[in-house]
Amino acid sequence: MFTIAKQFHFSASHILEGLPEGHKCGRLHGHNYVVELVLAAQELDRHGFVVDYGDLDAFKRIIDEEFDHRHLNDVMEGPTTAENIACQLYLRAKALWPQVVTVRVSESPRTWAEYRP
Ligand SMILES: [Zn+2]
Repeated sequence: MFTIAKQFHFSASHILEGLPEGHKCGRLHGHNYVVELVLAAQELDRHGFVVDYGDLDAFKRIIDEEFDHRHLNDVMEGPTTAENIACQLYLRAKALWPQVVTVRVSESPRTWAEYRP
């Protein structure tokens, strides 16, 4: 199995709703998100790639146009947690590349959340 990954970045604000009173994530705040897209294949294409990294620019466009410098509560369905961002980005990426296996989203250097089916 061959596996590749590429990182993407965006900045956005959000509020996590329904948390207990005083929970800091219930206040308006933002993150510099890091998104890692992971793809895998049993066999390489005729160029020797899982997927050409350059082809992943289409994923960067989705992030830039729909997530970067947005208020995530305005542009996402459901909770704006890293877990749900990972899930929504996974579904978008999987529709473009069947080789996608997981998406990982970090809100801080010490945390990440991952979605894989
Ligand atoms: Zn947050």
